[in-house]
Amino acid sequence: MPNTRYIFITGGVASSLGKGVTIASIGALLEARGFKVTIQKMDPYINVDPGTMSPFQHGEVYVTSDGAETDLDLGYYERFTDAKLTILNSITTGRIYRTVIERERNGEYHGKTVQVVPHITSEIQSRILRLSDADPNLDFVLVEIGGTVGDIESVPFLEAIRQFRFNHGRDKTLYIHLTLVPTVSVAGEIKTKPTQHSVKELLKQGIQPDILVSRATQPLSPEIKEKISQFTNVPQNRVFSAADIDYTIYEVPLNLHREGIDDVIIQYFGMENVSPLFQGEMNPMLQKWEKILDYFKNPSTTVKIAIVGKYVEVSDAYRSLYEALWHGGFPHKCKVESIKVDSEKITPENYKEYLSGIQGILVPGGFGNRGVEGKLIAIQYARESKIPFFGICLGMQCAVIEYGRNVLGLEGANSTEFNPDTPHPVIHIMDEQIGVNILGDTARKGSFPCEIRENTRMEEAYGQKIIQERHRHRYEFNNRYLDQFVRKGLVISGVSPGKTLVEAVELSRNDHPWFVGTQFHPEFQSKPHKPHPLFVKFIEAAIQYQKENP
Ligand code: GLN
Repeated sequence: MPNTRYIFITGGVASSLGKGVTIASIGALLEARGFKVTIQKMDPYINVDPGTMSPFQHGEVYVTSDGAETDLDLGYYERFTDAKLTILNSITTGRIYRTVIERERNGEYHGKTVQVVPHITSEIQSRILRLSDADPNLDFVLVEIGGTVGDIESVPFLEAIRQFRFNHGRDKTLYIHLTLVPTVSVAGEIKTKPTQHSVKELLKQGIQPDILVSRATQPLSPEIKEKISQFTNVPQNRVFSAADIDYTIYEVPLNLHREGIDDVIIQYFGMENVSPLFQGEMNPMLQKWEKILDYFKNPSTTVKIAIVGKYVEVSDAYRSLYEALWHGGFPHKCKVESIKVDSEKITPENYKEYLSGIQGILVPGGFGNRGVEGKLIAIQYARESKIPFFGICLGMQCAVIEYGRNVLGLEGANSTEFNPDTPHPVIHIMDEQIGVNILGDTARKGSFPCEIRENTRMEEAYGQKIIQERHRHRYEFNNRYLDQFVRKGLVISGVSPGKTLVEAVELSRNDHPWFVGTQFHPEFQSKPHKPHPLFVKFIEAAIQYQKENP
């Protein structure tokens, strides 16, 4: 704690303004100056975690290496910074109340009335401090308050961060408020009033923001900044614009740096840069973001990858996956376009309409029976027509089912998740999961080791024998069928140490140009500056396919 500073970001006017990307970008800028940061998300909903929420409601569930099911903003935090996130980085109203109520039941409040203030707000503050207690070398803890100021459910969190400043001092805390400055299209006028109101709403909670970041279509003029400043008590040089991006969210750190936000933060805390690398505009740590932007601006080639899933209408449902696909293109200077295909719409008659003009097919993770048959059709097409294929988690399980039915001739082969009475349960529930309640904290989650077999696509991609990847599943390859599959040419390319669980399957290079399925989710570990090797190889195969099938 002694040397850690705490930066809080709240959002106003509207939701989905990009608080997660903004705070992740600020984290990246502070790291570029040599500081050590971590980022925490506070979600005001009552669910204990988003693990049981539908991706239609919530978007992707991001899984940390210790197996916490968290908000997708944690994915941005890990992709933009070097912070290693755990369950401590994710707070929800549900988690806070659960702790406080358990404590109450155990008599730990000694007969007191248990209240939002102080008990809930103290628990929230102690969760912030736990991060800096766990790592005394942290220079910054950045905290994102989910939701929009004015929401009933965020009030305890705002009160907690107000108290946090009272308890730890102004010199250790900074409040950033992200708002929207809309342009009214008819008159073309830029409107500052929603921002004024939003800051007033925050003041009602006892919080005077120190910095404002305003989302707008264009960078704000000095006049607009001055007007915002006058009405909000935030000095004009602390009003920043976050103009709409041209190419990619990876521009945001550069845009905010050009606005000077990192300088202002450092000055606010009276700190000096610690990185000898950081020398104004020449900072190589920022040049790495320029390089990423260049991939988007000047690609030498483009490939289209069909994502065949059931949550394709929600743009955030496969957020990490879409980004991992971009990353996979970077080393090839290749732009990757994700073509979203709703697996429920695919039939044996129409699949070519949906899957023409693409250079790769990816079947992502998922739960439940809906849309599975469409995924199987897409996989059969990829396998037989030798189109590069990548199956992730449910996607791998579907690849096994398809192979079982169409190559091994196991009629009705299925996962017991989709048909408990299948004659051929080629995917079945893991022994440790039998009898466990289906919802909540029960799946195999988090990072596990996997042993890679020699002379496989997996080995070619990773170049090492033991890897660590993140999981989130309850079902597994049924080893009772292992010999049959192997005899018919399915390559088991990754297994858990001890060989109890199949972690990756593929087709041999004689049979297919690139066909890989993994029980784990590689997309959670891909970063713009460290593209995941399986995505790099998948895109390489897609580029090759395009050359051969122009
Ligand atoms: N539904 C499958 C299982 O529970 C796959 C899960 C996933 O794709 N994340 O094993």
